[in-house]
Amino acid sequence: MNDLLIRNASIIDGTGQAPFDGDLLVRDARIAAVGSIGEEPGVQVIDASGLTLMPGLIDAHCHITFDEPCSNDELFFHRRAGLAAIIAARNVQRLLRAGVTGFLDADCIYDLGVDLRDAINSGVIEGPRMATGGYALLTSVGGTAGQLIPDTGTRGYAKIVSNQAEIVAEVRRQVKTGVDWIKVHVTGLVPQQRDAGEIQAWSLDELRCVCDAAHELGVSVVGHCRNATSIRNSVRAGMDMILHATFMDEPALEEVIEAKVPLVPTFTFQANLADYGDRVGANEDLREVFRREIEDSAQTLRRAYDAGVPLLCGSESGFSLTPYGDWHYRELQVFVEALGLTPLQAISCATREGARALGLEGQVGELAEGQFADLLLFDGDPAADVKILGERSRIKAVYVGGHAIDLEDREPARRPIPGWRASAYSDAILRRRDVIC
Ligand SMILES: [Zn+2]
Repeated sequence: MNDLLIRNASIIDGTGQAPFDGDLLVRDARIAAVGSIGEEPGVQVIDASGLTLMPGLIDAHCHITFDEPCSNDELFFHRRAGLAAIIAARNVQRLLRAGVTGFLDADCIYDLGVDLRDAINSGVIEGPRMATGGYALLTSVGGTAGQLIPDTGTRGYAKIVSNQAEIVAEVRRQVKTGVDWIKVHVTGLVPQQRDAGEIQAWSLDELRCVCDAAHELGVSVVGHCRNATSIRNSVRAGMDMILHATFMDEPALEEVIEAKVPLVPTFTFQANLADYGDRVGANEDLREVFRREIEDSAQTLRRAYDAGVPLLCGSESGFSLTPYGDWHYRELQVFVEALGLTPLQAISCATREGARALGLEGQVGELAEGQFADLLLFDGDPAADVKILGERSRIKAVYVGGHAIDLEDREPARRPIPGWRASAYSDAILRRRDVIC
């Protein structure tokens, strides 16, 4: 690969510092220099006058194998392993075209993540830099899918573990296959407590068991936690990153701050449901619940941020409310509007801090010498308004490891796949009294 010189750009370097005018030199997949750089023979030159050059976005919470289901029934009972893998190979390209150059998928259906990551890394398919888990570990209490989760075995993205021997065996099996992360579904929904939100579905000892087994083998652990005790216990157990981290109380916040555990709030799904759910017929009660989750938790997360806890941007892309390629920028918008971060701080969460999700802290996510050249060349100033990162026509170039991505959408139009989507008989019950007077 030839050296590449991008000249005269307005540079947002991902550290949070103000944009500055400069050039950037790419050599052997990495950034060789940033600043004022002279042209040399044999170097490909791009004039970026009037454009912003920034690190590519890193989405720390993405479900690349789900393929946008409208319901848990569809996700758990309408997906097939082979086709899910083929479609995921398409969907990673939608991320690239949206300026996402790295993502973490902590739990894939059919344990597909390692295969997908290795296909990207070896050049079988083009995709963003990917870190992956395998099955999410659940107890038989279940996760957010309630009784769709069986008491034993696997279903969809879940592996059910019921004692410490099973926990250790599954962690070791996943590490053997090559996962980057172990994912634990720490909280789940049970009918008795629906109004109270999710409950902790693991004991503290079990959480310690997961973390110890994974850490002994050099693998990090990430947990889905949507209540205070689960966050506190996950921190005590030694968890390396927490997804959602909502509904924290003071003691939980104190322990998170003490341990500086990175958090991935992932408000995009909730924000989409609350703001646009009516356009897609979303359940009204659910919309209120999710609106409240953002309101309740935004200031607590802001306090964590102010105390030095890293916040990462995750979009929960992969559901019908968060399709691939559309909403990866939206978490930055929520960070600005609900948490009160500046646009540059939010960009830093989505770039430099995002590197933690890839296990590449200090190696990607900043425009600095020695880092991987994962770049976004953009027409507009996201430091003034992060929302414009969602405007596709402004994306002028995307590079992963210095390699230019073809931004043309060459996907054939997709037609319905037999059995892939859940279909309802109707939206409501046909009562005689409602139709015959
Ligand atoms: Zn998720």
